[in-house]
Amino acid sequence: MSFECRICLNSQNQENIISPCKCMGSIKYVHEACLQKWLKEKYKFRSLLARSRAENTGLACELCKYELKGSVKFMPFLQILKTIRRSQSFYCAAINIPVILYIIYRLKFLFTKLIKTIRKKKVIIQLQETLSRKIFMYLKLQLTIWIRLVPISVLSMSLPIIIFTTCVLIKSIIAECKIYEIKNYEPNKGNNNK
Ligand SMILES: [Zn+2]
Ligand SMILES: [Zn+2]
Repeated sequence: MSFECRICLNSQNQENIISPCKCMGSIKYVHEACLQKWLKEKYKFRSLLARSRAENTGLACELCKYELKGSVKFMPFLQILKTIRRSQSFYCAAINIPVILYIIYRLKFLFTKLIKTIRKKKVIIQLQETLSRKIFMYLKLQLTIWIRLVPISVLSMSLPIIIFTTCVLIKSIIAECKIYEIKNYEPNKGNNNK
């Protein structure tokens, strides 16, 4: 008797096929490797705060809602290094970090420059003799402030977006570095049915 994997729909490869949840019938079985891939994707976007208890993975089957049992642990150190080296997310995060630091530096620079200009111009305005000169200088200062606020606001808006993306990338690297061992729902079946 052959079983079809519910993720890759392949019924040729009967190795390491398990039934991790209460689902029955044609969707009962899944390749361990296919399940691993699915779990890695799921853990990538799981909240940073969500924790799984011993034996419970904290992830449920999308169909029968049965919480998958098994263990989630980190790979051995050398395997982690290998995984990171092959991970696209790692290179993207590595590019993002200097970008974040540069934006912070640039924002600090633009901000201090703006405050210095305002202070200097205020003194100049006070030194003006006629009222019309004062108003003219004041309006000129306003214009300068607004023009300089443009790059500051663009940078301050992009900063949280880049930080968020980097966090998601780091989260996905962590998910990639874990091993997911999922138990059969019925321990004596599944593996015996190869
Ligand atoms: Zn499969
Ligand atoms: Zn299920």
